[in-house]
Amino acid sequence: MKPPAEIRLTPGKRVLFLTKDPDLIRKQLRGELDLQMKDLRVEDLLDDINTDVMTPAWVCFDHKPEDLARNAYAGLIVDGKRLFEQDDLLNGNFEVIVSGYRKGVGSSRETATQAEVWSGIRIAIAASFAPIHAANNINQGLLMGDHQILRRLQAGERIPLGEFTKGYDAITQMIIREGGLFPFAKALERSEIDLPTPDTPRRAMTMGEKILARHARGGVQSVKPGDAVVVDVDGGYTHEFTTAQVHYFLEQEYGSDYTIRNPQKFAVFEDHLIYADDVARMRPFLPKIEVLRKLQHDFQHHTSCRDFSAHDKISPGICHEVAREFIVDPGDLIQATDSHTCMGGVNNALAWGVGSTEYANLVQSGFTMVEVSESIRFELVGQLGENVTAKDVMLSILLEYAKPQMTLDRIMEFTGPGLRSLSMDERATLANMATECAARTAIVEADEKTFAWIKAMRPDADIDALRKRAVSPDAGAEYAGGVHVIDLSEIRPMVAHPGDPDHGISSDPTNGARIDEIGDVKIDIAYAGSCTAGKIDDLLFYHQVAKEAVDNGLKVAGGVKFYIQFGSQAVEKFARDNGLLDTFERAGATVLNPGCGACIGCGPGVSENPNQVTVSAINRNYKGRSGPGKLWLASPLSVAASAFTGKITAYTPGMFARRRELVRV
Ligand code: SF4
Repeated sequence: MKPPAEIRLTPGKRVLFLTKDPDLIRKQLRGELDLQMKDLRVEDLLDDINTDVMTPAWVCFDHKPEDLARNAYAGLIVDGKRLFEQDDLLNGNFEVIVSGYRKGVGSSRETATQAEVWSGIRIAIAASFAPIHAANNINQGLLMGDHQILRRLQAGERIPLGEFTKGYDAITQMIIREGGLFPFAKALERSEIDLPTPDTPRRAMTMGEKILARHARGGVQSVKPGDAVVVDVDGGYTHEFTTAQVHYFLEQEYGSDYTIRNPQKFAVFEDHLIYADDVARMRPFLPKIEVLRKLQHDFQHHTSCRDFSAHDKISPGICHEVAREFIVDPGDLIQATDSHTCMGGVNNALAWGVGSTEYANLVQSGFTMVEVSESIRFELVGQLGENVTAKDVMLSILLEYAKPQMTLDRIMEFTGPGLRSLSMDERATLANMATECAARTAIVEADEKTFAWIKAMRPDADIDALRKRAVSPDAGAEYAGGVHVIDLSEIRPMVAHPGDPDHGISSDPTNGARIDEIGDVKIDIAYAGSCTAGKIDDLLFYHQVAKEAVDNGLKVAGGVKFYIQFGSQAVEKFARDNGLLDTFERAGATVLNPGCGACIGCGPGVSENPNQVTVSAINRNYKGRSGPGKLWLASPLSVAASAFTGKITAYTPGMFARRRELVRV
């Protein structure tokens, strides 16, 4: 529905403030309290509300928005209990929801927006929004504003719609005015809208700008941040968590005989929920998961898109890992329904996650609308220490650059001589965690290693053609976020701590600390896997530590479970062919089939009670995401070392030999 020309609060409707004090939220939900922004400070409001909190994984097993909205904010847990019971948001008669900084970080799941919209929310207020979540809000017709706008609304003011569209590019403004992406697309089809073409004169460009200019329709030579462009998309994918909604939305909007353009450019993956049967807490949801699997199968059958389904209940691998192995080329523009789509940036592509609505629209039309983002560049110099990995680099960037919002909604570019010292798998970790930085995406400059790696994965690839498609930043390209030199030799083993979400300190990947600062943290689980840390080099890191440990007579520490999960079948084959599995077995680790699994709470390796502590090589530590326990993020080397010591430990080569000597003394 189109929003009115002037926005005001509806008499009788309410405003919900998501405060750091949970009691205030409880009172508002019970209808005992109505707050005013003028009586609050922004610091009183919850920051970093992630999409896992808004709609935890199990809520997304309902693919119809009206069903999943009944459990809006089911992931907001305080003292072990849901703050929002079923239908609380729906029954509260709220039309505005208010929070602090970085609303909607984390997963790209559009369900988070849908849960609010289908509960009656029409305006979201925050100090800042994570980019994918903001795009989902726009696509669903949810207006966004800041706390100043709310003060004025609560004072009874009527605010022109133009104030809600201010600052957005020309096309995004049109989408907001039409009330969302589907109404906009229909108006476009009816020729009621003329799309603008940017006329930016030729200029020096960043890597991201070059790829967008190359894909823009309408004879665009150059682009600059803020330009709105209509771009052709080279490829994309969904997985069984998101495909059902894409199929459902397309049927609703275009009828059951809908078609998609270029089906061979798009793919479906079965990777997220494939091992959910092994998690006791997931068993009640298995019938719903089965529906999601069936709807994905129906979509694939209906559209003839590429099929990466599981066989014999074993996934071909995590979509992002398999995509960089077999789909993503240098210079590509890739869109997929998952926030870690940014991992494709390792192949010198521009790739980011989108919501189900945006994806449905782009597969149907073959193009999408993009606002050119600003860029921030990280020039890597020096070499990593022998116990430091790219994960430590990212945990450090999260702390130093993402926490103060320097990466927010920007394209992170990685260049420099230090980058060239990193393997492709390590570079993939840099690209993968751009979404934790609340960045638009990340892109890694290509070199001969890039082309050789792609050729090794796809023997029919043409290296000369790959070279021609690659982009590098122009001399004089502008970086609104700055150019930052990072000396890899200065990075130390890092963790991100789980915070104290019950008391307003969110569990967040930006909670960085050096391992030598955290004291003794005993662990129950060490999890080694995910798209961030299930690559061949990660397996080699786990093996390096495990081999050293078993060669010195050690096994996984008593009371600790050490899970190792492959990112793809190619990774598993490498581990098998090179004897890694034998070492893991001797160490007492549990090796798991390829897929997402515990990372999203849907496979072996999840915690089972709030007292358990996990050290994990995954990319995000949001409360409840991987079970109810506390989750610390760390590098593959640190995770493996911790599995043998029983507490969070930075790996040091030779550490287990020294340990044996100490025991002998
Ligand atoms: S491994 Fe985790 S972060 Fe990566 S795609 Fe799967 S669920 Fe998402």
